[in-house]
Amino acid sequence: MEKTLFEKIADGEIPADIVYQDAQCVAFRDIAPVAPQHVLLVPRKPIPSLSGAVGEDAELLGHLMLTAAQIAEHLGLKEQGYRVVANTGSAAGQTVPHLHFHILGGRTLEWPPG
Ligand code: 5GP
Repeated sequence: MEKTLFEKIADGEIPADIVYQDAQCVAFRDIAPVAPQHVLLVPRKPIPSLSGAVGEDAELLGHLMLTAAQIAEHLGLKEQGYRVVANTGSAAGQTVPHLHFHILGGRTLEWPPG
């Protein structure tokens, strides 16, 4: 099966500004940032979206959430706050069919989102 864009980045086949990686996931700066800090956190496993996650992914999803918090702290966002977003499906604006969490911070983020 054709690799997703984010699998290619995770495998080092497409360059990216990587801020963190381990055996289960990779985090890199978004190519079109919408906030002063905008990092994408992706599992190495090519789950198409949050809707595609299954029971056996529970530990991986927990690891991703804890890792997102650690990355946000590393980026200096812990004190002021930040947002972790998983756009899921077309109505939510998902454009890359590989589960990813946006870690956004460095400015005031409005609510509700557009
Ligand atoms: P989505 O819209 O699916 O929630 O988020 C996909 C994100 O991937 C977008 O914010 C977009 O800017 C980012 N993106 C798309 N292509 C690339 C790429 O080649 N490299 C990096 N670093 N980010 C990308």
